[in-house]
Amino acid sequence: MLTIKNLHASVEQKNILNGLNLSIKQGEVHAIMGPNGAGKSTLGYVLSGRDGYQVTDGEVDFQGNNLLELDVEQRARHGLFLAFQYPVEIPGVSNMELMKESVNAVRQHRAETPLTAAEFLKKAKAACQQVQLPLEFLKRGINEGFSGGEKKRNEIMQMILLEPSLCILDESDSGLDVDALQIVANGVNSQRDGKRSFIVITHYQRLLDFIEPDFVHILANGKIVKTGDAALAKQIEKEGYAFLGLDNSAEA
Ligand code: ADP
Ligand code: MG
Ligand code: MG
Repeated sequence: MLTIKNLHASVEQKNILNGLNLSIKQGEVHAIMGPNGAGKSTLGYVLSGRDGYQVTDGEVDFQGNNLLELDVEQRARHGLFLAFQYPVEIPGVSNMELMKESVNAVRQHRAETPLTAAEFLKKAKAACQQVQLPLEFLKRGINEGFSGGEKKRNEIMQMILLEPSLCILDESDSGLDVDALQIVANGVNSQRDGKRSFIVITHYQRLLDFIEPDFVHILANGKIVKTGDAALAKQIEKEGYAFLGLDNSAEA
């Protein structure tokens, strides 16, 4: 699914990723944890092709394609999805319009027939129900005036509709109470079909009680410094990152 080799990336001339290696097979769920400022969100942005993030070295293969050669939209069409840590508000562009266009762009790429308005609406309603977002949210501007929890659920709703092959969730649990957390986790689990892969970035082991990861990685100082299973997340919950002997001066 995804092979990252020796990835170096910088933002505004500042090196953030420093030789990151990560390999993800089809169907796997990889959790990424790590201190604040470690580069977790940067990894998500670099993979999704966001402007302003320069890759200075390394390779990324995504399903046999050189990911780094594709622009943001091509990456999305190829089935890469990023749920943002801080979802952006786009007033005036309706959630429904954006999603219909996006879903049909992906379908076109897969040589599938576009969904009619009625077909799309049916799917969108089901996705809203799944994340317990009232249907009126489809008509609203993207994330416009949504609460923090509503934005996170909206991101999961988008993920369900887009049927991506690789989903990157950047702190989709942050700021959620336990009920909302369960809704987000259920949305993710409903998409686990043995083919789709996930990168779940989180600060808290709590999310991993609901989304069981196959692997847990610690990202620190711009690279993966330790890999384990769910037990590693539990250890971090108990002991923090101190046992890794990291320099945590970057922690904010
Ligand atoms: P994490 O998600 O692990 O908390 P980030 O990837 O958000 O970490 O940030 C990694 C480092 O990159 C931080 O030191 C942060 O301040 C810096 N950084 C991120 N984006 C920018 C930017 N646009 N300009 C300057 N520095 C940035
Ligand atoms: Mg952070
Ligand atoms: Mg972050």
